[in-house]
Amino acid sequence: MKKRAIYKKEQRFRKIRRKSVFSGIFILVIVFLLLDAAVMVGAIAMGNAIFTSRIGIEYEGFSAFANMYESSETADEDLWSRLDGSGRTYLIKDQDGKIIHQNGVNTMSDRFGRMELMDSFATFRIEEGKDIPGIDVHLGTVDEKDAIRLSGFEVVTVKCYEDMGESAIHSSEGDIELNFLKLIPKGEFFNNRKYKGNDVISAHPVWVAIDVKDGKETLYGKVFLSVTGRDFSFAIALIIGVVTTILVVLAVLVINIISTVRYQKKMTMIFLTDDSTKGHNWMWFLLRGGNYIRKKWHDKYNYAVLDFVFVNYRNYCMCHSIEEGEELLTRVDRILRDNTNRWHEFVAHYASANFAVMLRYGSDEEFKARVDDILSKLMKVDPDQIFQFHIGVKFLPAASEKNGKFRRRKDTDLEVEYNDACTARATLVNNDSSGIAFYDEKLVEDQKWNDVVRASQEKALENEEFLVYYQPKYDPKTDKLNGAEALIRWNSPEYGFKGPGAFIPIFEKNGFIKKIDHYMLTHVARDQKKWFDAGLSCVPVSVNISRAHFIEPDLAEQIRDAVDKEGTPRELIEIELTESAFFDDKNALINIINKLKEYGFAVSMDDFGSGYSSLNSLKDMPLDVLKLDAEFFRGNSDGNRGEIVVSEAISLAKKLNMRTVAEGVEAKDQVEFLAAQGCDMIQGYYYAKPMPGNEYEQRMTMDR
Ligand code: C2E
Ligand code: CA
Ligand code: CA
Repeated sequence: MKKRAIYKKEQRFRKIRRKSVFSGIFILVIVFLLLDAAVMVGAIAMGNAIFTSRIGIEYEGFSAFANMYESSETADEDLWSRLDGSGRTYLIKDQDGKIIHQNGVNTMSDRFGRMELMDSFATFRIEEGKDIPGIDVHLGTVDEKDAIRLSGFEVVTVKCYEDMGESAIHSSEGDIELNFLKLIPKGEFFNNRKYKGNDVISAHPVWVAIDVKDGKETLYGKVFLSVTGRDFSFAIALIIGVVTTILVVLAVLVINIISTVRYQKKMTMIFLTDDSTKGHNWMWFLLRGGNYIRKKWHDKYNYAVLDFVFVNYRNYCMCHSIEEGEELLTRVDRILRDNTNRWHEFVAHYASANFAVMLRYGSDEEFKARVDDILSKLMKVDPDQIFQFHIGVKFLPAASEKNGKFRRRKDTDLEVEYNDACTARATLVNNDSSGIAFYDEKLVEDQKWNDVVRASQEKALENEEFLVYYQPKYDPKTDKLNGAEALIRWNSPEYGFKGPGAFIPIFEKNGFIKKIDHYMLTHVARDQKKWFDAGLSCVPVSVNISRAHFIEPDLAEQIRDAVDKEGTPRELIEIELTESAFFDDKNALINIINKLKEYGFAVSMDDFGSGYSSLNSLKDMPLDVLKLDAEFFRGNSDGNRGEIVVSEAISLAKKLNMRTVAEGVEAKDQVEFLAAQGCDMIQGYYYAKPMPGNEYEQRMTMDR
């Protein structure tokens, strides 16, 4: 099925909505990832910088130690005691890997793996997989009393000068400033651990290696990477800073998304709100109602779509103002909403005075009661006056039951359903009081036929597809032809042969009837003129003129000119006006009748007694003929009473100097009765059906 514009619009709307929310979330994720990456890179860079600088310092200290070893000429006990006295954990290996000397507990293990210092200090290694046995060390050089197991010590760098006595260290460079290592007992150290004046929180051993004696030997030493309180505070501050930044950015983005969503909700509201009633609009009905009904495919309830039309709306706006009219529409909307279920039923202002409503109901009785109730409330929408409403109803296809489950068509299109409800409601158009019309298949057929007729009328007229049939009128006393009525037929090459019932009411509605009546008048006048000239004994033929003409003040002149144009004697044409025409402007009608009579045309009142009583019109209308409606001779009303009415109507006409025609007479006894009552003419199947001109021509010769 082709997607309707409205659904396309909704899809577009949803897309925009999704897009803006998704773009918000997308930005959020991207920013989050970027910040994350930045934090990681920063942390690695910072860690590296600290690590490098710390190791660098340690390495420098160890280099001084290596210098100390290298600068001594002989490796004797004195050298070892001096070196061991520094408290360092170290070992010296020759090129073959043989240990020359070692001091302290060797904690070198696999765990550290191979490490390389990245910057300019030097490359130093930690040997893999070699376990070096731990030894006790005595700090002979610094202070014998401080000799403690090496594993219990931390390393710090201190500055020291040659003249400092007991802590002096030989240096090949003379009395220069040099770093050396001092061991501090761990217990003590933990209470008062400092690194460059900062509290040390933890220290991690790292093995460094320096090639000495022109690479013939390697000196391995254990140094310590200290983490101070300042490092820790710095890291905490950094983390807090970064986390705060991330949180702020996140909060901004989240606020942005929330406000976007709220803005969209507002937009949706505007999009679905009716301007005049401030209730829901048609779009809302289609979207919400449509989604609802398509989901309710398993529902056992029945649903109907209704079109409510506030009949007096335009008049009300004319008498008051548009604002007051809209105020009234708002009240209508409120009544509809107050009387419907807000979860399962839908009300929307369609346009102008139309409201679309979808109702849910159980039984037909319940539905009728609901609609009646709503209608009675609507009619009292204004306390000062009663308003009229027209309602069109389209019942949605009922749910079909299968194994206790209810199934409804999932592709229900509310626009189509509402349109059907409107089609039903449109049948009430000419009705001034409130009413309900129901949609059925015949209505669609009618509607389609209506469109076909409208589309082909002009062409059919041009092609002379409309034919004049003549139905003779007979004098019941003599059985002689003394008149006829011209009746239209449509011989359509496309749609077949059609009687006037199939198209005259449509022409009356769409205004084409004026052209048709003129066409008939012209053709009848032409035929009459032809027959008259041929010497046939012509009788007056009556032509139907629809009430739609009577607003034209020069109608009588138009008729006269049309007949004269064909050169037809005017007395051969009679004009039939339907009874309903007599409800229009009475004076205008009297005027036209007088003129027609003056020009020499007989005028008859058609269908007398069919609708409302037009007895009153008889009083003022100077008519020539009264045509008694076929209804008098139909049905099974009490024969006696019917006869009384007919005979009285005939005698009334006689008293008013009018001739009478009885229409639709089919039986012999009716003819005899009418003859006895003094009825002048009979037009009915008893004598003849409407017939084409050539057949009628024969009647003129045979029956005169
Ligand atoms: P109407 O003017 O009342 O025409 C009489 C209708 O009764 C005709 O139907 C005729 O065929 C039918 N009729 C006559 N005698 C009998 C009978 O004994 N039994 C039965 N059952 N019917 C009988 P038709 O020709 O179908 O015309 C229907 C209506 O269409 C007419 O009613 C008239 O209102 C309208 N109409 C027909 N031709 C024209 C026209 O040229 N112009 C206008 N404005 N209306 C026309
Ligand atoms: Ca007629
Ligand atoms: Ca009639």
